[in-house]
Amino acid sequence: MSDLLVTEKLTRRYVMGETVVSAVDGIDLTFHTGEIAAIVGRSGSGKSTLLHLLGGLDRPTSGDIAIQDRRMSELTDDELAILRRDKVGFIFQFFNLIPTRNALQNVELPLVLSGVPVRERREQAMTFLRQVGLESRAEHKPQELSGGEQQRVAIARALVMNPPLLLADEPTGNLDTKTSGEIVALLHQIQKEEGKSIILVTHDRELAETETDRVVEMKDGAIVDDRRSKR
Ligand code: ADP
Ligand code: MG
Repeated sequence: MSDLLVTEKLTRRYVMGETVVSAVDGIDLTFHTGEIAAIVGRSGSGKSTLLHLLGGLDRPTSGDIAIQDRRMSELTDDELAILRRDKVGFIFQFFNLIPTRNALQNVELPLVLSGVPVRERREQAMTFLRQVGLESRAEHKPQELSGGEQQRVAIARALVMNPPLLLADEPTGNLDTKTSGEIVALLHQIQKEEGKSIILVTHDRELAETETDRVVEMKDGAIVDDRRSKR
């Protein structure tokens, strides 16, 4: 497998008055194309900070990340925004959908921002809603959807620009056990069928073990374990 994402001594420190927190502390990691990996670890271990750095939402204090051989440190903020748009789809714990827009409009938003003409973007958004099994909910606003359905809409939105990489921060953290299983199974299916690379942060070790290829464990900003799943 080729390398999709490589980090080099990746470090992010937060200065809080007198104290310095190394939320990500010199991490060297490689993620491969088509891999689905879980990042696990206690609350405060640095999982979200790492994921934000990997997706170019935040800049490291030191160290670097290369995505498909492009070093983020060499990019201006505008170039980084373009890289993020083209290469990364984000999925969040609280879905982050726009409440006043229906499912289809939420999914098509990245296409609106990229200037795709209306008919084309409607069609594309619908294709991805169909892929997550929500074609019949296109006109529904987020509040008219269940939590699992809202997360499916968010997954369709993350896919609509066709990025090679999906990053998901506790995508099941706000869902019951059964729905969590369905959402992670959907991500797993997307990885298998579409060849996407997926990195997902989760508290649920069992889900991580059964539905991903690799489990990376963080503690105090460092990687303390990195192994193939048992499945
Ligand atoms: P996790 O996602 O594993 O719960 P985080 O990446 O959110 O962990 O946080 C890692 C550490 O960095 C924690 O000690 C947290 O308090 C600290 N931290 C995270 N974000 C900030 C911030 N914006 N300012 C200051 N400290 C932060
Ligand atoms: Mg977090």
